Amino acid sequence: MYQVQQLIGGVWDGSGDAGWLTVVDPADGSPVSRVPVATDAEVESAVKAARAVAPSWARTAPAERAEALRRAADTIEANADRLAEAETAEMGRPLAAARSGIQAGVSTLRQYAELAPVRGGRSLAGGADAIDLMVPQPRGVVAAITPWNDPVSVSCGLLGAALATGNTVVYKPSERSTASGWLLARLLDEHLPAGVLSMLTGDGPVGATLAGQEVDVVAHVGSTATGRSIAAACARSGAKALLENGGSDPLIVDADVDPRWAAEQAAIGAFTNAGQLCVSVERIYVLRPVASRFLAGLVERAEALRLGPGRDPLSEVGPLVDRRQRDHVHGQVGAAVAAGASLLTGGSVPDGPGSFYPPTVLAECTDEMAVMWEETFGPVAPVMVVDSFDEALSRASHSPYGLAATVLTGSMNHAQRAWRELPVGTVKINAVFGGAPGGAAEPRGGSGQGFGYGPELLDELSATKMVHIEGPGGEGGRW
Ligand code: NAD
Repeated sequence: MYQVQQLIGGVWDGSGDAGWLTVVDPADGSPVSRVPVATDAEVESAVKAARAVAPSWARTAPAERAEALRRAADTIEANADRLAEAETAEMGRPLAAARSGIQAGVSTLRQYAELAPVRGGRSLAGGADAIDLMVPQPRGVVAAITPWNDPVSVSCGLLGAALATGNTVVYKPSERSTASGWLLARLLDEHLPAGVLSMLTGDGPVGATLAGQEVDVVAHVGSTATGRSIAAACARSGAKALLENGGSDPLIVDADVDPRWAAEQAAIGAFTNAGQLCVSVERIYVLRPVASRFLAGLVERAEALRLGPGRDPLSEVGPLVDRRQRDHVHGQVGAAVAAGASLLTGGSVPDGPGSFYPPTVLAECTDEMAVMWEETFGPVAPVMVVDSFDEALSRASHSPYGLAATVLTGSMNHAQRAWRELPVGTVKINAVFGGAPGGAAEPRGGSGQGFGYGPELLDELSATKMVHIEGPGGEGGRW
């Protein structure tokens, strides 16, 4: 069992004065981690410590900060198996997927270590005797509040970008994957001056206390409801809110594509990580001519996936993160069926321990069903048959979220219309997951605000200062 400690101002401690949480293995319900809940005083001290050390970390040469990150990336890579085991034990995903999430995190740290020192500002064309510059500077103290669904990779992004740009960080990993966050913080902390990184543990109220402190940025990856309350806290404190939140990503299957290939794409999009990815396929609009073959293919793919504990190398779909999440997913499926959807496969809670839920396909779904309108965050593929590409685009666009969308089509005209018209941060044509390295997008609507990843995150976590310099005036006025 992991005995998690907090890191406050360079000191690891596991006081637990405000109580303890236990994280259980979603595969069998056994306890995995024991986690102290931060007191308000601990939150305040972590922020104070981060504030105290912020000027010296900001003054540290960018190349030196980058070197620390590079060394941390090497240490994390060397400990990838330990981290993957913790992730799988806490949130259930298959070990191989956990390992690739950790490798993605390592690559992100390395990318920021390369990019941060070569960023520049701008010099401006001012008067001949003047120097005018726009210079990026660290913002100060960043509170990084992260989720459980890809815990190491997401945390490496926020922490890496904040540290590389010279900010100090108070990190609050999810209460459902705290040991993963704790192991990561320990490995990073080995390479950082004391106080540059602090880590607080606990649940939502600890995050809320942190978000209400006098920090300079609150960077949150998590649900839309939490993001909204963080935005309100930031409006009160004046901190910048950077929000990467929920999604209900549509998939459009056009009339001219191979329906079996489209079914494979849909299954990858809907069932990877048991549907617990921000960019999971959450609703599907299929054109009538290919609908029946697409549905048959999707059911076949769903039924072929092997459900089992993440530590079993044969498992392709692990359990959901916990029973609360399973109740939420099953509740949406049940409500859809009660409202007229037809259940083609899955949709029942298996007997036995853990929080497993089978890949599920629903047909005859309507816009009003929660499974189409809200974020499900489970292995559920709800399908609606539509009569035209226009109808598909219009239904796909109608959503409280604006994270990403995928369109499978053989028509360049439809592809062009899709990327221009869909009101989302990312549009993928003919691949549910994919994209060149270095990409970044701004989510829209309920999916958040700002660049939460990619090179642009370095800009989000920097403040640009305008500098105008000229020689002194008056008698004998010169340098
Ligand atoms: P969550 O918002 O419940 O929790 C995330 C973090 O916020 C946790 O550390 C939690 O303790 C903290 N928190 C909870 N309530 C808080 C409050 N009132 N104030 C401050 N902090 C608070 O989200 P989750 O359930 O852990 O994660 C799943 C969600 O994350 C999904 O909605 C998913 O789409 C989203 N997500 C988005 C992205 C993205 O890039 N857009 C990436 C991964 C996950």
